[in-house]
Amino acid sequence: MALSLLFEAVLTAPELSVVGLELEDSTITILGVVAVTVLILLSGFFSSSEIAMFNLPKHRLEGMVEDGIKDAALVKELKDDPHRLLVTILVGNNIVNIAMSSIATAILSMHFGGLVGVLLATFGITALVLLFGESVPKSYAVENTDSWSRRIAKPLKATEYLLFPLIVLFDYLTRQVNKLIGSTGAIESPYVTRDEIQEMIESGEREGVLEEEEHEMLTRIFRFNNTIVKEVMTPRLDMTAVPKDASIDEAIETCIQSGHARIPVYEGSLDNVQGVVHIRDLVRDLNYGETEAEDLELADLIQPTLHVPESKNVDELLTEMRENRMHMAIVIDEFGTTEGLVTMEDMVEEIIGEILEGGEEQPIEEIDDRTVLVRGEVNIEDVNEAMEIDLPEGEEFETLAGFIFNRAGRLVEEGEEITYDGVRITVEDVENTRIMMARLRKLEDMDTETSAENGEDGGTNGTADQQNG
Ligand code: ADP
Repeated sequence: MALSLLFEAVLTAPELSVVGLELEDSTITILGVVAVTVLILLSGFFSSSEIAMFNLPKHRLEGMVEDGIKDAALVKELKDDPHRLLVTILVGNNIVNIAMSSIATAILSMHFGGLVGVLLATFGITALVLLFGESVPKSYAVENTDSWSRRIAKPLKATEYLLFPLIVLFDYLTRQVNKLIGSTGAIESPYVTRDEIQEMIESGEREGVLEEEEHEMLTRIFRFNNTIVKEVMTPRLDMTAVPKDASIDEAIETCIQSGHARIPVYEGSLDNVQGVVHIRDLVRDLNYGETEAEDLELADLIQPTLHVPESKNVDELLTEMRENRMHMAIVIDEFGTTEGLVTMEDMVEEIIGEILEGGEEQPIEEIDDRTVLVRGEVNIEDVNEAMEIDLPEGEEFETLAGFIFNRAGRLVEEGEEITYDGVRITVEDVENTRIMMARLRKLEDMDTETSAENGEDGGTNGTADQQNG
């Protein structure tokens, strides 16, 4: 609309004198139209730059720089100071938009008089800017972020030089204002957050983009960096170790009987672990070593090991063990007492799931839809995941056995029951004081009601207390 008005004005223009030059009205109008057209193109350039530059994901830009793609490095240079880049784009965009509306107002007022000219320019330029200065270029930039950001990089750099004083001034002023209103002035947020990736994994599985196995492994990877050593270790009670003064033959015998290739060697008590011996070294040195068998001592074959606190993160420990080429670490508590041991396998299992060897039993065995048999040392998290229930996590106990003890507040015996949040836990097997196995059954609503009526919940037969939530 505005354009056609401008053309009409060109045709009907009388003569005018501008800046001392005798110019015909028509010439001024033509110059004005040309200027407005150039400015609208510039406006489109700035708007599209903003979208292309700030929508270009960091990782993609880095990939382009690594591949040596033309002008990618310049894009990176510009994006390295996002605040300066934004100021450049905004200063440029505002100058061209305001210049455009001033020129249009002047020309239209010349033809239609003050008020009408102002109104026509306001609406006409708004429409033009919205359409050709914003909407079209931005839509284009959204779809062609990679190529467009590289194409506009040089002109943007040139703009930075051209408008240097203005940009420096506004860069400074906006930073000051940001400080005043307590804003960090952060322009770019991370491309994706951890939470977003986790949500994508969830919806990926729901929508069938990810297999269930892939989904599980990805979820475990995310959980991995919150996992501490205590959650994955083999507890002290299950540790197979040999005293330092044992003979090589005894050590080999211990390895074979326990089925473990590495065993810790301690002096005095398990709280004083000196290192680890590997069955390979024991056998090799006994049979093929240079030393006479009777001179060979276990102490000679001990390899150093790491002592780590139970609260250590497994991802850190895994890196450390890989760097030190160690497969086993000894876990100690805050008093320096040995709590257990952890091997590479324990940590890798956290990501890829349980690795069972020959005779090993499933830690969680499904009996029917609602019932499972769970070994006492299984982590609460794993029980919750397998049964889709909500036993409390992150408290002072890690394992199902720990949870049962915690609720009972005392040693429990075989056959005792706890009901928690719609789940009945029956202790199936206790060795000495240790809960080896428990049966978990999700109660149907009816079961809960019946048991409540019968007064079962509070605990017949020495049943441990029922707790809920
Ligand atoms: P291995 O194959 O020698 O048993 P892995 O590193 O594959 O050793 O560990 C398998 C499981 O056995 C892990 O849960 C680990 O904690 C446990 N484990 C390894 N060595 C011992 C040991 N000496 N005493 C007790 N448990 C051990």
